[in-house]
Amino acid sequence: MRQYMTFKERHPDCMLFFRMGDFYEMFDDDAKTAHAALGITLTERTSGIPMAGVPFHAAENYIRRLVEQGFRIAVCEQIQDPREAKGVVERAVTRVITPGTLVDDSLLDDGIANQIAAIGLRSADTGPVLDIAVAELSTGAFRLRTVPAAHAVSELVRLGPSEILHDEDEESLAPMLDEVNATLQCATTPRAPWNFNPDDAVDRLRTHWKVASLEGWGFSDADPALATAGALLSFLLETQASDQGVPGLTHLKPPKREHWDHGMALDAATMRSLELERTMRTGAADGSVLSVLQQARTPMGRRRLRHWLCYPLRDRTAIERRLDAVEQLVEQERRRERIREVIAGVQDVARISGRVAMRRATPRDLAALGRSLRALPDLCELLSEDAAFDVLHQRLTAAASTAVPLGERLLDSCVEDPPAHLREGGLIADGVDAELDDYRSLQRDGTTWLTEYQTRLAEETGIPSLKVGYNKVFGYYIEVTNAHTQRVPIEFNRKQTLKNAERYITEELKHYEERVLGAQHKAVEREQVLFEELCRSIEHCSHGLHEFAEAVADIDVLAGFAVLAVKHGCVRPVLTDGRELDIKAGRHPVLDAALGSDFVPNDTSLGGGDEPTLALITGPNMAGKSTYIRQVALIVLLSHIGSFVPAAEATIGMVDRIFTRIGSADELHTGRSTFMVEMTETANILHHATDRSLVVLDEIGRGTSTLDGLSLAWAITETLADRESRTLFATHYHEITALADQRPTIANLHVAVREWEDRIAFLHRIQPGSTDRSYGIHVSQLAGVPALTIARATQLMNTLSVDTGHADAPPPPADQLDLFAATPHPVIELLQTLDLNAMTPMEAFDTLRRLTDQAKEH
Ligand code: ADP
Repeated sequence: MRQYMTFKERHPDCMLFFRMGDFYEMFDDDAKTAHAALGITLTERTSGIPMAGVPFHAAENYIRRLVEQGFRIAVCEQIQDPREAKGVVERAVTRVITPGTLVDDSLLDDGIANQIAAIGLRSADTGPVLDIAVAELSTGAFRLRTVPAAHAVSELVRLGPSEILHDEDEESLAPMLDEVNATLQCATTPRAPWNFNPDDAVDRLRTHWKVASLEGWGFSDADPALATAGALLSFLLETQASDQGVPGLTHLKPPKREHWDHGMALDAATMRSLELERTMRTGAADGSVLSVLQQARTPMGRRRLRHWLCYPLRDRTAIERRLDAVEQLVEQERRRERIREVIAGVQDVARISGRVAMRRATPRDLAALGRSLRALPDLCELLSEDAAFDVLHQRLTAAASTAVPLGERLLDSCVEDPPAHLREGGLIADGVDAELDDYRSLQRDGTTWLTEYQTRLAEETGIPSLKVGYNKVFGYYIEVTNAHTQRVPIEFNRKQTLKNAERYITEELKHYEERVLGAQHKAVEREQVLFEELCRSIEHCSHGLHEFAEAVADIDVLAGFAVLAVKHGCVRPVLTDGRELDIKAGRHPVLDAALGSDFVPNDTSLGGGDEPTLALITGPNMAGKSTYIRQVALIVLLSHIGSFVPAAEATIGMVDRIFTRIGSADELHTGRSTFMVEMTETANILHHATDRSLVVLDEIGRGTSTLDGLSLAWAITETLADRESRTLFATHYHEITALADQRPTIANLHVAVREWEDRIAFLHRIQPGSTDRSYGIHVSQLAGVPALTIARATQLMNTLSVDTGHADAPPPPADQLDLFAATPHPVIELLQTLDLNAMTPMEAFDTLRRLTDQAKEH
């Protein structure tokens, strides 16, 4: 218990899994917590201390459940053979498991990179920035990026780490982390401030990678962003316990600087409203853009697709390179199918290689790696002699020189279907190692001897039913049923009594037992040595394996794009440096996949030559406005990740950012009102959209009273039109469509509806011009609102005449809802004079208050 207490004191925030023989035991409060969290039995140690345990070979499953529930676990192993121990067996905490540091296959989702980040705020010349160091322990990737503080939440959400480390004294980070957590569900781990000390960080990084300076990696030693990289490294070293002589982080690559503004920026709101990873309504992955695009055959490809989708490019050459490859794969069906067949046999090489480096690999990992590498020469061949695959082909050829021989060695050395662990051996094939073969033949000869021995004894004693057997607790025995016990010779020593039989042992059998069990033990030990040797040769080849894994990930995604392009009739987008957005017969990738030929394609033409840059889209609810504007955003996004797009033709002027603000997402759980969320997101758009951005807005201004909302929508439209951001704005405020007459940069579109008798049918077709009817009553009729209510609403509409010019009813009384009648309203007049860009938030608020008061007076 004293030993236990020492470890517990060193890891007070962890549950301590304390290895005792075949179990991990937990004591005291840990035992009670484990009992509650896992439903395992709570017992007591003699001194009255609560205790609970799990069998060590089943521990991973329990660990996974605890980590999922937010616990951290310190695993304390016996690091000395108990047989050699004088007194208490030596133990050490060999790893600390936190959500961000999981590496075992059973604990990870293979489609999601499990990342851990360390963050730090500082002020740079350009203003406050957030440094984000992020590592993927399972593959060894380590990256560092710096983002303006205003984009910090979005960047963290897009990165999607499962754990974030931060300076415990840095209170200003708390609101940011809360916001991230509202979307992400990631663990936040406070760390002592000294971990983030920049000078120590540089030393720590230099020591770990044994370099004199970090300049070789593109950092100056005075780079303040390195503080977070150092903090992350210190956490990883601590949790992976490499100071206890257990190999830890040899596979971790030196930090790589990534430039946040090199790619297309996507903020959290845009990712959410475009439903990139999950749907807005249910939050499920199914039905998301990712789920429809996901055709990858390998875990590496699945993770790569997620990364590409969330990190679109702005470098046209890089995008065209991907498109070239997709085009070839679209055209060459045989090659595409062969590639997909070949890579289907490739397992998670990236993670296996990481586990090998961390000595967490299993025998199955080694066999799987051997099988996976079989694909390498075939893949090399399949990607040769085509300029579109040159880069990938070079990577594979470079990898092949070391990885192919490694693969052969693994295949030769390992049996086809090894056990999940090495405790009883069984990985190394016969004929690989003479010493191991010797031990094994000793065991095998033993088995023959045993059969002969049984026959001999049965004859000698005249007991035909006599059996020689083995069990784990008692070892070898001779079993004689009660009917024959009087015939048992004197040299049989009784060992165990069963209900119907007696079990005996003889000197000869005991001698045999020692020899066989000795050979068994030695065979296992020998296999462990051989396993370690294989692991070392895998480590030597880590660069080749990395290149192989990277190339497989890329080709997997590219071939997936080609499969989709063929299946859904997608085309290669033409990318330009201009600002046009010219889409013929565009479709929404998710709805199109679901509806097939029932989906109505639509054109888009914005921003080219003298064309307007902003389109206002009106039409009734359910007509297809949201679908249309999202489809345009998604087609633009897809063309920036190198995918073909669902359209008959698409010419896309490259975009620096996509902004969306869609619908009234219910964000009450974050403690902010819907309107506040809407305005925060809109403010973000107005501050950052450029003439290269694409802005997609749905129903801005709906979260407040009609006049407020309309006024805001109006002013926002004007601002974006002036900015010349390509903008699609779906709105119910028909009044705004009047702007199209005033400004050439604004166009009106509407969704066609067919009307007959008192019903409507949605045609989902986008047409030029505006509509001034909402058909709200028709839609509610479709939705099943009772007939009486519908009749009354129709009656009211005819008297109130909110929309001028449509109701044939007599003019409404002056004090009724005639806010937007043809004569300009004073509020609108005032609004038209406002320059939102020149106003402070306080001025804007005051003006808004004045407007509201005026409207109320009217
Ligand atoms: P709105 O934004 O105008 O209220 P949505 O875009 O949400 O309408 O579309 C409502 C429904 O209409 C969608 O769920 C889909 O089933 C259908 N829909 C929309 N656009 C199309 C289309 N182009 N082709 C076929 N069905 C469509």
